[in-house]
Amino acid sequence: ADQTRAARAETVIDTDALRHNYAYLSALAAESEAATMAVVKADGYGHGAVEVARVALTAGVTWLGTAAIEEALELRAAGITAPLLCWLYPAEQDFTEAVAADIDLSVSSMAELARVLAAGAATGRTARIHLKVDTGLSRNGAEPGRWRGLFEAAAKAQADGALKVIGLWSHLASADEPDSSATGQQYQIFLHAYRLAVELGLTPLCHLANSAATLLRDDLHFDLVRVGIAGYGLNPVPGHGGEQLRPAMTFRSSVARVKRVPAGTGVSYGLTWTAPVETSLALVPVGYADGVPRALSGRMDVQINGRRLPVVGRVCMDQIVVDCGEAEVAEGDEVILFGPGEAGEPTAQEWADKIGTIHYEIVTGMYRPRVRRSYR
Ligand code: PLP
Repeated sequence: ADQTRAARAETVIDTDALRHNYAYLSALAAESEAATMAVVKADGYGHGAVEVARVALTAGVTWLGTAAIEEALELRAAGITAPLLCWLYPAEQDFTEAVAADIDLSVSSMAELARVLAAGAATGRTARIHLKVDTGLSRNGAEPGRWRGLFEAAAKAQADGALKVIGLWSHLASADEPDSSATGQQYQIFLHAYRLAVELGLTPLCHLANSAATLLRDDLHFDLVRVGIAGYGLNPVPGHGGEQLRPAMTFRSSVARVKRVPAGTGVSYGLTWTAPVETSLALVPVGYADGVPRALSGRMDVQINGRRLPVVGRVCMDQIVVDCGEAEVAEGDEVILFGPGEAGEPTAQEWADKIGTIHYEIVTGMYRPRVRRSYR
């Protein structure tokens, strides 16, 4: 109870839910003999990369993935030794530290390959790479016209013992749109890349699927699936599957102050809301600096003592005001901003729908120093 009273802005991560999600997803992948990577970039989509990785690795996951090298190094520094792929770097990134830490590196170009080879030489280790091909997303990955040159150079370096080609991979643009023909086209293009790799004597692990494809397209599982959002229990394909997932994050605070005000009282900056009748207002010390979007002003509820109550007036930098009416609300009471939704509380999906974004952005937006994080 003391913990609750102390809570200002806190995310509580349900490790049972994480375990459940990773066990479910890795079992699904295993049905097509694919391994599972937990994507834990952006501090585990705001859930805590090290903690999530540890749970995932006890629940059937055998690979980890991050975007930035710094994120991968953080996992290694925490003592995590599982295979770990990292894929996005600024131009001229030096790979020495990554190779020394046994981090698998995505390679999209000859320039990246050259820098990986330099890092291998500098460390005296055999670098592990995954060749990345662009199959239609037009972000990273080698363009089809450059595959042969890149693959030949990688095959030669492998033959020289300078590196090991571990994987061949690409990323899908529209896997969360089950009716899109783009996914099938990307699949066909990926197969061309695979055939070329085999022709050149490479035997890479192939991986293409994100969460949506893991859930909807077992024909795209290949050797490994890369699961991000679904591990956190958020469904990338509502209405098409994923009902078994359990959202792991709850965002909570507590009531700092309650006051009784007469009808006609204006609330918060701009006085955009006025009490129609005498009412009780609860002040909650979280605001847009804590990840409550200001765009939710006048459009959000919180849950206090099991009841949904409206936030009135504008969301401020550090605080919001809740119209409690005649509900029993006391200082110190827990305030749920969003959670799994199982008890009628708002969800990250609901916030996202209201402000025209995706739940990814809501939970990842909780990755900020002002928000404390705890696990249960
Ligand atoms: N693979 C790559 C390369 C990614 O960048 C991401 C995240 O965007 C994922 C996999 C996981 O995607 P999702 O969170 O939709 O499962």
